[in-house]
Amino acid sequence: MNRPNTVNIRYGLVGANGKMGVEIQSYFSSLGDLCVLRKDRGVLEEIERPQVIIDFSSPDAVFETVELCRKYSCGLVIGTTALTEEHFSRLKELSEHVPVVQSYNFSTGIAILKRIIKEYASYFEDWDAAMVEIHHNQKKDAPSGTAKMLKQALGREIPISSIRVGGIFGEHTLIFSNSGETVEITHRALSRRAFVIGVRNAALFVLGKEKGFFSYDDVLESAQAR
Ligand code: NAD
Repeated sequence: MNRPNTVNIRYGLVGANGKMGVEIQSYFSSLGDLCVLRKDRGVLEEIERPQVIIDFSSPDAVFETVELCRKYSCGLVIGTTALTEEHFSRLKELSEHVPVVQSYNFSTGIAILKRIIKEYASYFEDWDAAMVEIHHNQKKDAPSGTAKMLKQALGREIPISSIRVGGIFGEHTLIFSNSGETVEITHRALSRRAFVIGVRNAALFVLGKEKGFFSYDDVLESAQAR
């Protein structure tokens, strides 16, 4: 989805010093956006009211992020993984007042892969299935949020193997196998830019909404409808 980038966003960022936070600031500022609120562990810089807050941090930051969105009456784009039921219920409450986009993966390739899985899952009904996901050695949660999302798209319990090694940005392989053949589908993020482009699309989407709880699929669908 290539949208003209004529809008400059004044955004807040939770997890500003993290790997995703740094990449988000680099990409957003290359497009003329301004980070007007920065939060990380022990750091809170509030320069002015953000139009949207972006959270790529840790589950223990999320309740405070919700409070910041309430304080500024602004929407939220949240990519932090390993959220619990309680986090989701607080995010849904917030979405009764402002727009919230939540996704465990903001890359367009994973959104397409999810659609492929949903469409073709029934063909593999009688096959064994499993997933292997590989991430960098600093990733805290396992299995990854994306693996959980892909499993949900498949609609059945499957074994998931998580490997943490080196600096890999994110690799997910779904394996279908019967006694005679194997089908593998792999998505590989080549850099964090794969996610960050989607985060900005979601931030622009939030600017056009009054309230509601949305996924990255909703962001992509709204772009396709234009
Ligand atoms: P990271 O560890 O490099 O960065 C996390 C940052 O959040 C750190 O700077 C840390 O100090 C900060 N932080 C932690 N707790 C905080 C708190 N209570 N308040 C404020 N700041 C806090 O991790 P990362 O690779 O940047 O990933 C961040 C999150 O985003 C993880 O949950 C990761 O799984 C997720 N992620 C999601 C996607 C997606 O597309 N949805 C893509 C990549 C990463």
